Amino acid sequence: MHTVIHWFRRDLRLTDNTALHAASQGGARVIPVFILSKWTTSHAWTGANRQSFLCDCLRSLDANLRAIGARLILREGDAVEELCRLAKETAATEIFFNRDPDPWGRSVEERLTKAAAQEGLHCRAFKDVAIHERQEVLTGAGEPFRVFTPYSRAWAKLSKPPVLPAVKTLPAIPETASLELPDLSRWNLPPAGGGLLPGGEKAARERLKDFVARRSLHYADTRDLPSVPGTSRLSQDLRFGLLSPREVHRKCLDAADQADATGRGSLMKFIAEIVWREFYMQILWNFPSVLELEFNPKFRGMTWPGDLRGLDAWAHGETGFPIVDAAMRELRETGFMHNRCRMITAMFLTKDLHLDWRLGERHFMQFLMDGEIASNNGGWQWSAGTGADAAPYFRIQNPWSQTLRYDPDAAYIKKWIPALRDVPAKRLCEPPAPGTRLARDYPPPIVDHAASRDLTLALFKSAGSR
Ligand SMILES: Cc1cc2nc3c(=O)[nH]c(=O)nc-3n(C[C@H](O)[C@H](O)[C@H](O)COP(=O)(O)OP(=O)(O)OC[C@H]3O[C@@H](n4cnc5c(N)ncnc54)[C@H](O)[C@@H]3O)c2cc1C
Repeated sequence: MHTVIHWFRRDLRLTDNTALHAASQGGARVIPVFILSKWTTSHAWTGANRQSFLCDCLRSLDANLRAIGARLILREGDAVEELCRLAKETAATEIFFNRDPDPWGRSVEERLTKAAAQEGLHCRAFKDVAIHERQEVLTGAGEPFRVFTPYSRAWAKLSKPPVLPAVKTLPAIPETASLELPDLSRWNLPPAGGGLLPGGEKAARERLKDFVARRSLHYADTRDLPSVPGTSRLSQDLRFGLLSPREVHRKCLDAADQADATGRGSLMKFIAEIVWREFYMQILWNFPSVLELEFNPKFRGMTWPGDLRGLDAWAHGETGFPIVDAAMRELRETGFMHNRCRMITAMFLTKDLHLDWRLGERHFMQFLMDGEIASNNGGWQWSAGTGADAAPYFRIQNPWSQTLRYDPDAAYIKKWIPALRDVPAKRLCEPPAPGTRLARDYPPPIVDHAASRDLTLALFKSAGSR
């Protein structure tokens, strides 16, 4: 029996896992491995919430592998060195993995392919993270799309890959060194929030089942209301590959077949969000400079003159704008923030506090369980007005009127800000009179929205006319 390696990355599941399925088909002994990267907290793009969720997912993956005869080998360090070393130790001849869409993942794949070839090893890379990836969805002229609607039309026309069955059995693996499964104490991080969702394939599949059965038919009506559990809560599951996007898409199409016109409309709206995920992945693949630069060249090099003390108030939920503060506190505590609130808080940082979107992008990456480079960058540049198919810079959300529209009874605000529990909801939809506070233990607004808006318009106009 020959031996191959399956390198788990952001595909921490046994069902519909393209590379794992292929590795298990050839009668080989499969060594399943995950490699923890070494990073320091001083310039980290992750934090306790996401690392804690990852630990949960690795524990669950190991248990699932043991149930089918194998176990998870865990190593730490440079993936290329560790994989080549493991191949030598186990006499493996091939390394299977699913491709990663971000530039770091991509560069590791390139290094691995070269190093493996020198060792006489064969690498087999698969499409898995997206239904359509990289350069599969192109304009008639063969160019990547920069605008969502035509991209999504072209995406919908392509035939979809099948959903593969779960790997049901793997041959036992030989004695192979492995680290202990990690917990958060492995990293020098502050504690994670108390409200994280459980990780692992089983928990993710239950979330999918619950969404499709109970909430998907009303998604279009409830998806914008942060106090209502109206969205799927699958983002961290797609981020870590606890579910495949193919399975999520397939289950929604099946449910749409059974639904009435309203339900079908809701499910199609939901599928459009899955397509946004892939739109931003292909933006990052085709235009990797978005990680440093504004996608819209008109706004490259524009100044963000805000006071950095505002960043601290924003990050800790102490701006005096209740909807912003509730959302920033939810993020810390749960590693999640509702999409409507991501837009409100991102616009607030850039257009009320005039701070660089890159500061917010990084803060979100440190606290989000679903922190996904492509979607996060896409969402930040959309909100800042600098991105692909972004909100025009002059469309500036007013946090007070957003509250009236999306949290009119202040249920969301009151959940996260105890100091405001006794304040009538109506008062939380408009700024307090100058020099006053909404409640004794709650700060006054740190900026005046109308004045901030005028400065934002001036900044963008001057950047655009250079
Ligand atoms: C500033 C900002 C930052 C964001 N950062 C991230 C991030 O790091 N990771 C992330 O997964 N999403 C990010 N999003 C997109 C979106 O907010 C989340 O995907 C969504 O809130 C997750 O909740 P859900 O799974 O219940 O979403 P649902 O409404 O149920 O959507 C289903 C799935 O579609 C995808 N999706 C939904 N909206 C978007 C979108 N606007 N862009 C890309 N994919 C989308 C997600 O995979 C999501 O799980 C960001 C949005 C903004 C405005």
